[in-house]
This record gives sequence, structure tokens and C-alpha cells, in this order.
Amino acid sequence: MSGCEPGESVGAFLCQAGQVLRAAAVEAPRLEARLLLAHAMGCRQEDLLRDPRAPVGPEAQQRFRAALSARARHVPMAHLIGSAGFWTLDLLSDPSTLIPRADTETLVELALDTFPDRSSVTRLLDLGTGTGALLLACLAEFPGAFGVGVDRNPRAAALARANAARNGLADRAALLAGDWADALSGRFDLILSNPPYIESSSIPGLMPEVALHEPALALDGGADGLDAYRALASALPRLLAAGGKAVLELGQGQQAPVEAIMRGAGLRPLGCREDLGGVPRALLL
Ligand code: GLN
Repeated sequence: MSGCEPGESVGAFLCQAGQVLRAAAVEAPRLEARLLLAHAMGCRQEDLLRDPRAPVGPEAQQRFRAALSARARHVPMAHLIGSAGFWTLDLLSDPSTLIPRADTETLVELALDTFPDRSSVTRLLDLGTGTGALLLACLAEFPGAFGVGVDRNPRAAALARANAARNGLADRAALLAGDWADALSGRFDLILSNPPYIESSSIPGLMPEVALHEPALALDGGADGLDAYRALASALPRLLAAGGKAVLELGQGQQAPVEAIMRGAGLRPLGCREDLGGVPRALLL
């Protein structure tokens, strides 16, 4: 390819791959090329930068070519690498559920601000836990807490269970497959949820990584995007302990309508925290 050194060195592969990914209009071509090559070679990306003349072995080449062509088709990075960072954790990620996102860390920040005394939270619940991201990040921060995570997709619940074990939190987490809160009883000090909130008709217009490769179950909030909030509004009152709080993720423009739904169920909105892009993202009830 133009401008790239020929050969089978790390530098040559990175240069070519960067061009392929740039032509495919992925988000960060050079960085992604480096992450994919490091993954294929089983090393860290820093190692690649240190020695660009190192040869790429035949098996690594094969793995890298397959990953590169998938990435050029907009398969998400997390699916190719198999994990994603969230808060202080490294989480396995697969097509059964939403890939953890930085915006969702806003909910963890809000939860920590709400309960400055970390020992005051002993019972956590995460509705629609997916990879387990919210539940496990909060369990890591509230060391005396026990948590329940529920997901409608049994494969996601199994993934979350693997993530609990991977992060040393398995003895404080129960990950269950089930429909929202239907099967749950008991009361919780902190209830977290990043529910599906995209309007059904908007899903095809999302970036291809999301629209084609993340499950509708984790995204689709029905015609107005608010179906899951209505379900949460009917479940939260019987699940919150006295003095308990819920922290919910919101989509863009959903603060007012979600607050109205929650007020209708007797739940009081107590504040909203913006994400790094300035979007009101985490609602406290
Ligand atoms: N934030 C996600 C997206 O826009 C949607 C997540 C959700 O529906 N909870 O890709």
C-alpha cells in the first residue's frame, strides 16, 4: 500500500492496517490497528511501538488479517479483542449484550457521591446487568455490599458471572437470568440500571457498530424509547429499601419524560449528573 514499507514487520503491518481502517472510516484507525495487532500477537501495544521492526509470525498474521477485515466491516473492537475497560475493571464482552461505555461510568460517580459513607450500602441491585459492568464497578467501590444482577438474556447473565469471577467479586455477586424484577423480592439500598432506551425507529440510524452488532434487547426502548422506564417505575417502589436510592441511565433528551414517569409512580427525582459530553446521563431517585 502507498507509503508503507513492504515486508512482514510490525511497522509494515501497522501502516497497512491503519490505511485499511481509515478507508473504512472507523473511529481511531491507528490506535485500533495497534490494539488488534497486539491482540493477534499476544503482546501489549507498547511492545509494538518499542520494536516496529519485529517480525509478525504466520499465525499472528492470520489472526490479524481476520480481525482487520472484521473491523473494516465495523464489528466493534470489544468483540474482536473480547474485553472492554469499565471503571476500574476489565470486563469480558461478547455479542450477547451491550459493550460497556464510558458514559455509563457517570452512574458509578453519582452512586459514589450519593453514598459518601461506603459502608452504608449493603444491598445492591442491577436491572439489565449485561456484562455486569454497573453492578461489579459498584461492588468494587462498596466493599461491604452484596449485589444481585438480573438480565433477560441467560448468556449475558453467564457473561456477568464470568466477569464477577475475573474481578474477584464472585463471592459478593449473584447473577440471575430473568425478566427485569419479576422474580425478585427483598429490598435494596442502591438500584442501578442502564435500560434499553433508544426509540425503535432510530436504531437503524445508529453507527453500524451499534446497529448491526449490539443486541436490540439492550438498546430498543420501544416506540418512544421509554418502555423500560415505565417497567422500572412499576418495580422500583417495592424494591427500594427505606432511604434507598435508584440511579438510572438516560438517553439524550429523556430527563424530563423519565422524571415525569417516575413521579407518577411516587418516586422523587433527586438530581441528574451529566456525562463528559454534557448530556444529562444519570438520574437519581
Ligand atoms: N448508549 C447506548 C447507545 O446510544 C444505548 C444504550 C442503551 O440503550 N441503554 O449506543
